[in-house]
Amino acid sequence: MPERDDIVVMKFGGTSVAGPQEIKRAARRIVSAREAGNRVVAVLSARGKSTDELVAAAFEISDRPDPREMDMLLSTGERISCALASMAINDMGHKAVSLTGSQAGIVTDSSHTKARIIDVRADRIKETLGKEQIVLVAGFQGVSTDSRDVTTLGRGGSDTTAVAIAAALGASVCEIYTDVTGVFSADPRIVPGARKLPVVSYEEMLEMSASGAKVLQLRSVEYARNYNVPIHCRSSFEDLPGTLVLPESETMERPIITAVTHSDDESRVTVVGVRDEPGIAGRIFTALAEANVNVDVIIQNEPVGDDALADLSFTVDRDDLPTAVDVIGELGEISHSVRTDERIGKVSIVGAGMRTNPGVAAKVFEVLGREHINIEMISTSPIKISCVIPADEVKHAVQSLHAAFDLGDDAILPDDPTGENPTVPGL
Ligand code: ASP
Ligand code: MG
Repeated sequence: MPERDDIVVMKFGGTSVAGPQEIKRAARRIVSAREAGNRVVAVLSARGKSTDELVAAAFEISDRPDPREMDMLLSTGERISCALASMAINDMGHKAVSLTGSQAGIVTDSSHTKARIIDVRADRIKETLGKEQIVLVAGFQGVSTDSRDVTTLGRGGSDTTAVAIAAALGASVCEIYTDVTGVFSADPRIVPGARKLPVVSYEEMLEMSASGAKVLQLRSVEYARNYNVPIHCRSSFEDLPGTLVLPESETMERPIITAVTHSDDESRVTVVGVRDEPGIAGRIFTALAEANVNVDVIIQNEPVGDDALADLSFTVDRDDLPTAVDVIGELGEISHSVRTDERIGKVSIVGAGMRTNPGVAAKVFEVLGREHINIEMISTSPIKISCVIPADEVKHAVQSLHAAFDLGDDAILPDDPTGENPTVPGL
């Protein structure tokens, strides 16, 4: 058997396998890792925008594509990438074998299009590695042993495939090769001076992925934290170190605030005139959970009027909006009406140092106020503050917060020996 520490899992995202040149480049990287003495498992995403195209193809046929068949369709994209990359590697004089998620032993529950990995039966991967071969695994998919059907893991799910395989094999690292050079203090397309973060803790990365950072799928970070898998998020186009995602104990002294994240692909549902009695919120959110709708910010006030009716608002992914509205409709007589805002914006500030430094929330609100950006909802965790704001103000809000908290390239970290420039002035 190979040594535990010489197994490397390398995941390549869609842009990193988009065309023949990119596939050959990825193949060369995989081969170099092998030639450096590692056993290599590579997990590939579908090429370029091909998953979007498959989704569009389904909606050309049906308004509500059958989820089982959707998974049959979507899982093909990753298989194409793996077969092509395997051909490229074989031409380079190495032996590679491509496997579907099911062949690779990725066992999931049976919730189509959002399945969760429940087991990785890695015997076939181990056997193939043992024969000195490179293993290519189609990301984003698995098989439900209950239904015996192919499932997919939700958009961006190849990250989770890679981390799950790294955990099952005890790999030394799960490398995520992508079209950006790492995790940044804000989206560099919005903030050109955003800083590449050398290290981020699992907790911070969880908050960042949950609040809109697209670089790693949320579930992959959750999985990495649960199994202590180090992630190295890096560019597939240049050979520089990227961002390490590690346990907090290994991330050393850090600034108070790490990043500003944003999203504009969420919607808000407001249930108007909810009866103020025990059990109603339980019914609403149980029904949403059963329909697999993920709810983020929730707001409800104790009613002040005599009618004892409250308004309850929450945010969901825009894709889940129709389901959320249906689910509440099916609950019957719990409220007057349901209102929706299809497009809302959200800006969040994340940083592990917030736990011990008061005043961050005040500063966020003060900055948004100064910029005349109206805050519609607020939610916090010990290391995150999120504000729902109008969608067309998101860019301005991200830029203002990034500047106010001095997160850019030229920011001086708090352990700056001169001590002259605190990272977050005025806290
Ligand atoms: N191809 C899938 C998607 O576009 C999965 C992935 O890329 O991770 O979401
Ligand atoms: Mg991705």
